[in-house]
Amino acid sequence: MATLVKDAMTQTAQQRGTDLSRLREQSIGVNVKVPILGGREVVYTNFDNAASTPTFRPVADKVDEFLTWYANVHRGTGFKSQLSSWIFEEARSRITRFAGADLAEHVVIFTKNTTEAINKLSHRIEFGPDDVVLTSLMEHHSNELPWRKVARVEHIGLEEDGRLSVGDFEAKIREYGSRIRLVAITGASNVSGYINDAGYFARRAHEIGAEILVDAAQLAPHRPIRMGHVSDPSHLDYMVFSAHKMYAPYGVGILVGRRETFEQGDPDTVGGGTVDIVNLEEAYWTDLPEKEEAGTPDIIGVVALATAIGMLEEIGWEAIIAHEAELTAYALQRLARIPKLQLYGDVDPANAANRLGVISFGIDGVPHALVAAVLNYEHGIGVRSGCFCAHTYVKCLLHVPDDEARDMERQILARDRTHLPGTVRVSFGLYNNKEEIDRLAIALSQIASGRIAGDYILNKEKGEYTPRGFSPEFPRYFSL
Ligand code: PMP
Repeated sequence: MATLVKDAMTQTAQQRGTDLSRLREQSIGVNVKVPILGGREVVYTNFDNAASTPTFRPVADKVDEFLTWYANVHRGTGFKSQLSSWIFEEARSRITRFAGADLAEHVVIFTKNTTEAINKLSHRIEFGPDDVVLTSLMEHHSNELPWRKVARVEHIGLEEDGRLSVGDFEAKIREYGSRIRLVAITGASNVSGYINDAGYFARRAHEIGAEILVDAAQLAPHRPIRMGHVSDPSHLDYMVFSAHKMYAPYGVGILVGRRETFEQGDPDTVGGGTVDIVNLEEAYWTDLPEKEEAGTPDIIGVVALATAIGMLEEIGWEAIIAHEAELTAYALQRLARIPKLQLYGDVDPANAANRLGVISFGIDGVPHALVAAVLNYEHGIGVRSGCFCAHTYVKCLLHVPDDEARDMERQILARDRTHLPGTVRVSFGLYNNKEEIDRLAIALSQIASGRIAGDYILNKEKGEYTPRGFSPEFPRYFSL
């Protein structure tokens, strides 16, 4: 870690870009071999970074180092508790800076993940009976379902190519006006990799007296994102993200939000740590952020995230964006040449720097789940297929007609996922390289031309394919 960080600080951005090749060695499990059909082992290629990233080695090292000093935080009188409390708040300060937040206006609250952060926020904003939450058809379920429980939810529609429709946003503003209490949109899509113009949505939200939440689960590892000062019309009111997508999968999520929202009212979860004093009749809530962090927090996870953030900052956004754009452009070019392969969303390699390295596609005549299975069982390439917790968005991207969608819902409820619509998704991390994309392109060309070695059986209930006569022996690789 020390060398990597020192080098990164003394190099130009371009040199740091070169340094990214060293980051591969610094990412745990990247060159590990996995079993494939036929009894061979191949080096695993992980193209599922939008789900979760591997751990940076220096993050794991820092966690190991910290375990010597670990103790519960807050109010412990021993040296270890004092040190742990100190480092916990140091980590919060670094995360606050990373989020461009100002503790006079904002609070940074530790949660379990993005989903918990959004649920918490949904319980802490006070909604009136007529209030509307304006979200979009592009959202992950985590930024849609929690709002249904507390307010009327309306959705910003999409353009033909799957981008958010600014025209429809404006139409919804005309229709619901000051009834819109919150605009809740994703910073970037976990399906198409589109990046939304958060500043624009924020400005318009504030003009009509609404607040804005940006779900930065996908964006935070790839682009700088800042809350901004509340006097800036394009500031954000709330932002959420998850450490497990940022090379620190130790179980922490972040909710940054307006202090005043959390100062008013009762916390959504209550118990130890949230109170100043309790008697049998009453509980007096303590100050933020502790008021909103009931129970023992994930101290290890917080230290891990702060370490990963330190590394991302030292590598620098310029180098991160350049590297990921290069991979994305290369992948788009390679995949576009494969017959029968359909790319969804923006397919132009020239736009690679304006989107994330999240690419969705399908192969004509081969179910998405089968493509994903063959990539795994025959090529050792980990991807994801289906709807990615964004059912509505995937149906829109694929232009699934309403009646077909309803029919499919009935089949799924009857436990048959044979015809589940979906795409295959590859998503890049900082440690991925072009050789891995070459491997993917070769594998996909073979699948598209019918060269599938295994005899695959579909588990209808799960919608998953497995090759007959093959099951990996997990205990050979890892056991408790
Ligand atoms: N929002 C988006 C855009 C996501 O991609 C994800 C994770 N796939 C989430 C929210 C939920 O994140 P978590 O699973 O960490 O709660």
